[in-house]
Amino acid sequence: MTETYTPKDPIWCAGCGHYGVQGALVHALSELKIPAHETFVLAGIGCSGSVQNNVSAYGYHSMHGRVLPTAIGAAIANPDLTIIAAGGDGDGYAIGMGHFVHAMDRNPSVLYILMNNATYGLTKGQDSPTAERARSAGQDTSLDAISLGLSIPGTTFLARGFTRWADQLNGLLIQGLQHVRAKKGFAFLEILSPCVTYNDTYPDWDAQLYNVDEDEEFSCADRAAAFETVVRLRGKNRMPAGLIYRGDLPAFEAEWLEQGPCPSDLEAHDPKKHLDSLRGIMSSYAV
Ligand code: SF4
Repeated sequence: MTETYTPKDPIWCAGCGHYGVQGALVHALSELKIPAHETFVLAGIGCSGSVQNNVSAYGYHSMHGRVLPTAIGAAIANPDLTIIAAGGDGDGYAIGMGHFVHAMDRNPSVLYILMNNATYGLTKGQDSPTAERARSAGQDTSLDAISLGLSIPGTTFLARGFTRWADQLNGLLIQGLQHVRAKKGFAFLEILSPCVTYNDTYPDWDAQLYNVDEDEEFSCADRAAAFETVVRLRGKNRMPAGLIYRGDLPAFEAEWLEQGPCPSDLEAHDPKKHLDSLRGIMSSYAV
């Protein structure tokens, strides 16, 4: 690096799950010996967004809900970087949901760490899309991003970790980083990271989580079986943790770079052509 930057101390509340996320990320980067100058951490808006200040790497704080398109642009611009996008459930599952769905569909080589605490912590505890809610017969109908990911045929890496389960979380982060560094596409890791100040979900998640990594009958290579497992657990008010699905498809940036610029696209996006067209429209209104 030509300019050094000293990572900041975290500003999170004592006991916030995000400390565990940051610790696991730093551990995984160190285990894989990924140098700081080859690492780019981008973050969305929310308490989780400050993680990019705290890690020894290039950092970028994006607009609310826009961390994924920014990260995908970085992955295309410099394929030598290891791209890590990080954000919370409000940032990623509400305002950023459109980008999230299309990132899963297109499979860019970006590790997306979504710190889910089922609340908007930074703005003092409003319900997020993953906040538990019962609409009928006591069944929680909140958003489940793993089910969503399984329903999108382009996904290649879907996992869920929990800050209380540090060993598993360390392993999932290493596997996610390996996936993107091998240019296998989008690695989505939802980390359950409780907000102890506004929504302490430690007791709920202690009771609800089911570790599929310890289930010898479970195969992360079988999308349909993984979906069945997620739905079955949900019916019992439980949810899976571990590596839930891993597939093999071309990464977005490989196809995009191979394709190169399309002459007809270049013509369609010719700024002079657009300017002439605009002048024509304006002149028709001239008095
Ligand atoms: Fe963490 Fe919640 Fe405090 Fe934000 S408000 S730093 S999410 S504990």
